[in-house]
Amino acid sequence: MPLAPFTSLNIGGPARFFTVAGNLDQLRQALLFARRQGVRFCVLGGGSNLLVSDDGFDGLVIRLQLQGIQVSGHRIEVQAGVDLTALVRRTAQLGLSGMESLAGIPGLVGGAIRGNAGAYGGCIGEVTETVFALQADSLELLALDRGECAFDYRNSRFKRDPSLVVVSALLTLAPGDCEEIRRKVEGTIAKREARQLQCDLSVGSFFMNPVVTDPELICRFEADQGVRCRENRIPAGWLIDQAKLRSIRVGAAMVSQKHANYLINTGNANAQEMTRLARLVKMEVRAALGVQLQEEVSCLGFNPEPDRGQPS
Ligand SMILES: Cc1cc2nc3c(=O)[nH]c(=O)nc-3n(C[C@H](O)[C@H](O)[C@H](O)COP(=O)(O)OP(=O)(O)OC[C@H]3O[C@@H](n4cnc5c(N)ncnc54)[C@H](O)[C@@H]3O)c2cc1C
Repeated sequence: MPLAPFTSLNIGGPARFFTVAGNLDQLRQALLFARRQGVRFCVLGGGSNLLVSDDGFDGLVIRLQLQGIQVSGHRIEVQAGVDLTALVRRTAQLGLSGMESLAGIPGLVGGAIRGNAGAYGGCIGEVTETVFALQADSLELLALDRGECAFDYRNSRFKRDPSLVVVSALLTLAPGDCEEIRRKVEGTIAKREARQLQCDLSVGSFFMNPVVTDPELICRFEADQGVRCRENRIPAGWLIDQAKLRSIRVGAAMVSQKHANYLINTGNANAQEMTRLARLVKMEVRAALGVQLQEEVSCLGFNPEPDRGQPS
């Protein structure tokens, strides 16, 4: 099964095995199948943060389609296969506040929990009370409270430990005014659409915003942008821009003209071009500014994983 159509980059070769899991039992069966075949597995959500190698993945891809939302007062139990923006819109209808800033982030709830997706100062970890995750080896369903999930900037326990598959999450929101929440949600979506980034083939921000220790660089950023940098993190896009890399290309892979942290597929780019472009960006930013960028995107089917190997 070719994986490119399942990713927002539209890049990547085939999976050796591919299946869809619509409930917990099917997910357990799929994990058992991978174990019996002696292959690795990978869970696929919306594919909006995934770069698949041109050779594909020599294992089992499990497309999660666990659907379902249960509301109890101001708490929502949501399954991993629910579309994140559909969930945010639903919270507005229910008059529940806390997820407005996440509106318009592509992908599904499971992927969002794993990467602690966030935007405009908010992230999903902040409203998450408990995550239910299936441990792939024991097939045991774990209930992990927020502390145990170890949410951090674009990170969580689920990203650090790929044997945990997020199945559902219990979110705690605050009661609010439906119309006001709806206005905020639609405002966030409109702000995103105005940037015209959603229509390009990308994974959103390709690199994480790095922690910078150089006080001069921090001053330069703050003077240039007129904002204070938070937790010493400087936007990767600003750094890439400073290194004058906007619009550079490797084949059909390009640093976006509109947002320097978006590496886009301009048509028929392959994974090799994408990874060569990413390597070039990292090298140039390091040479120009002394900062090491790290991929935010998840990579599948590379050997070694481009974001796990030595800084390239
Ligand atoms: C145009 C655009 C804009 C974006 N803007 C933002 C933004 O503002 N903020 C932001 O944080 N992100 C943003 N992203 C990135 C992306 O939308 C998020 O990272 C999203 O949460 C990924 O979810 P997904 O379901 O698509 O995950 P996928 O891409 O399917 O998977 C990503 C990784 O998570 C793993 N995974 C998926 N589901 C599960 C699960 N249930 N359990 C365990 N592991 C799982 C996969 O194996 C893979 O390693 C943007 C992407 C695009 C294309």
